[in-house]
Amino acid sequence: MSHEGFRLVSEEQAKRADAAHAPLPREATEPVKVRVMKTEGTGMQIDWRDGHASHWTFAWLRTACPCATCHDEREKEGRPVGVARPEPASLLPLYKDPVRPDSAQQVGRYAISFNWNDGHTSGIYSWDYLRRHCQCAECKAAATA
Ligand SMILES: [Zn+2]
Ligand SMILES: [Zn+2]
Repeated sequence: MSHEGFRLVSEEQAKRADAAHAPLPREATEPVKVRVMKTEGTGMQIDWRDGHASHWTFAWLRTACPCATCHDEREKEGRPVGVARPEPASLLPLYKDPVRPDSAQQVGRYAISFNWNDGHTSGIYSWDYLRRHCQCAECKAAATA
């Protein structure tokens, strides 16, 4: 994949994520510290410029993938961001590796992307998108208020 193509897709994604909401203050979407706890498998943590800290599990991040394919799937199923598709009841549950990224890389100055261990790589998670989906008790309470 060329760098040019990569950028184009990510800008589209970022725009779509922004379209529905008023812009956030700059300090709220500027990470000071980004930690991807690959080895521990516990997820990603970001400390923001405005002093807020966010944490997302890898399972949440994977099901919240902002790429066009995952976005359309969620729309079609009416499934909110970050909610896994219900597993079909099975007599012989198959063992599945817990979802985690094999690697993660920053995309420009505004996003991060993951190479998930299930082979999916197309999601570009903008800081804005992540901050809007902060999973801390305070933000979740505000979102449902
Ligand atoms: Zn995706
Ligand atoms: Zn929060």
